[in-house]
Amino acid sequence: MLTSLVNNAQISKLEELIDEYDKIVIVTHVSPDGDAIGSSLGLYHYLTDLGNTVNVIVPNTFPDFLRWMNGAKEILDAEKYPDYAQRLIEEAELIFCLDFNVPKRIHELASYVVGSNAKKVMIDHHPDPADFCDLVISHPEISSTCELVFRVICQMGDFDRISKASAEAIYTGMMTDTGSFTYNANSGQIYYIISELLKKGINKDRIYSNVYHSYTEERLRMMGYVLSEKMKVYPEYNAAMISLTQEEQKRFRSRKGDTEGFVNLPLNMKHIIFSVFFREDNEMIKISFRSQGNFPANKFSSQCFNGGGHLNAAGGEFYGTLDEAIALFEKALPEYQDLLVKKK
Ligand code: 5GP
Ligand code: MN
Repeated sequence: MLTSLVNNAQISKLEELIDEYDKIVIVTHVSPDGDAIGSSLGLYHYLTDLGNTVNVIVPNTFPDFLRWMNGAKEILDAEKYPDYAQRLIEEAELIFCLDFNVPKRIHELASYVVGSNAKKVMIDHHPDPADFCDLVISHPEISSTCELVFRVICQMGDFDRISKASAEAIYTGMMTDTGSFTYNANSGQIYYIISELLKKGINKDRIYSNVYHSYTEERLRMMGYVLSEKMKVYPEYNAAMISLTQEEQKRFRSRKGDTEGFVNLPLNMKHIIFSVFFREDNEMIKISFRSQGNFPANKFSSQCFNGGGHLNAAGGEFYGTLDEAIALFEKALPEYQDLLVKKK
């Protein structure tokens, strides 16, 4: 049985909002991942099936390995169509903010969303939600926003209305945000939910394959290259780091999403509990952090790179050169030695 996680007053308020408003916009975070796209499309199908007019807007493009999802073609990329995105947000009566906790995570869309007269609902699992929504359904203890979307729909009594397309999207984000159920995945409720999603006819083996068996040859070769040439190990801190310049990404014809998962690779080594990946982008250095156990990747990210995220998966941005970003990281590592090295 699914426990009632979300407070009943919040569920009633959400039901009222969905009943009252028809023009709905769903927005999710920049560089959308499986949970961002999955939760958006999971909710999109549910709301569309109820008869609402729904648009999903993303701040920028998302990886090809998420494009097989039903509804993915309808998602509006605000970087490509900024005026249309702005108009849809201005005309919306109800806006869902999914899988992000602070406006800056939607980049340029932030001012339109925050300034809009629409009612706003946040459904998210990042710690410390900012106060810009009328209804905040925030549960950092839950491993994916997709799981929250499933729970919210079920608590509204609408399990029967969840379509196969919605179930596939929800499963995708539950899978990607837990590394295919290898971390943050010890709750039995997750497996109960999967069994419920299977009742909708989803093929979980095929979803895994669609997402993870989707490499181009160049991407796999780039992965080999970063492992053999670009990984630096700091044994005294149980940490490791990978970096990639723009030139290197071009050499391997890297496309959006092609470096996804690289940050996890060093964690395959015994003793490594903190892994960092620096990727040189057009205007900044994008940084990903992953950790194991209690090491607070989000705290490290917010202190050094003005970023944030979860305990074991965080990210940040650095405006400067790749070398400067790496130097900052290496300077900060000793400050975290106590947390990185367990006392014998
Ligand atoms: P990823 O490494 O997959 O890009 O991000 C991992 C997690 O870190 C995301 O789910 C998100 O919660 C958080 N995150 C990534 N980039 C940023 C960022 O620039 N700022 C903040 N506050 N959080 C980020
Ligand atoms: Mn998420």
